Amino acid sequence: MLLDGDSASAHPWPPITAVLKEELDEAGIFQTDIVTAPKADGDFSNFKPDFSKYQVIVLNYDAQDWPESLKTPFEAFVKNGGGLVTVHAAETAFPNWKEFNEMIGASGFRGRTDKDGPLWFVKDGKLVSDNTPGPAGAHGNRIPYLVTVQDPNHPITKGLPKTWMHQGDELYNKLRGPGTNMTVLASAYSDPANRGTGRDEPQLIVVNYGTGRVFNTVAGHDANAMSSVDWLVTFQRGTEWAATGKVTQKVPADFPTAQSVSYRPNIAALDPSYKNGLNALTSGGGRGAGGGSGRGGGGGRAAVPGQ
Ligand code: ZN
Repeated sequence: MLLDGDSASAHPWPPITAVLKEELDEAGIFQTDIVTAPKADGDFSNFKPDFSKYQVIVLNYDAQDWPESLKTPFEAFVKNGGGLVTVHAAETAFPNWKEFNEMIGASGFRGRTDKDGPLWFVKDGKLVSDNTPGPAGAHGNRIPYLVTVQDPNHPITKGLPKTWMHQGDELYNKLRGPGTNMTVLASAYSDPANRGTGRDEPQLIVVNYGTGRVFNTVAGHDANAMSSVDWLVTFQRGTEWAATGKVTQKVPADFPTAQSVSYRPNIAALDPSYKNGLNALTSGGGRGAGGGSGRGGGGGRAAVPGQ
């Protein structure tokens, strides 16, 4: 179930759903229904999706809250063994829904602060937390950055390179949350030169919630970012893992390297802004799938307000 229907203004949800559906279909192993919930201020009295028909929910819905009539069956689905995948904006949803925050492990924005949990980051190869008071959630400009695998033995990351370049995207920092049963599979260095923390921030998170499996992919601001082959591949693998506990998909030959980004033009083209250029890549001369410009973009355009 690809569950959508509302989002913060910085993340229009219909183009994100189009990307997610295309990438799920491309994997060739998923049958995906798009289920569109009412907007957060809408009437939910007749919205009763049959979660029991599905192995995994891919969430592309970002709002302040849902009614109990939806939260309760959603919690039961995951707690009793269902899979959940949260993508970027959806990763920041529902700040006051305790069980949702347990599911995703760590998050930011939407008024989250130290009341929602400590800061979580990776130090010397270990996940650590820090109780320093303050807000949660920030990012710099959307420029390419290096991702580092922290757990190479998990089904999602097994067989991936140790490091790779992710194309221009929002590198979230200052994520906070309960962090219960949470593992950070991959991190990225949040560079102070780009308004970062100087810490290795979580990028790919997995959480065991009850008997359910949650894959929380923190990056993926827009179709441009989601066209980065590493994003696509980890999304496909993470969704399979959340659904079944296993990953059967092979790593494609165009997976990015430590030196160069790699993206899929057909995915990037689903973004209405693609015609204006692929973020920082364009100024460096992106060459399409398997090519890309690596760090040579000369800086990204300014970040959008909010998330
Ligand atoms: Zn964003």
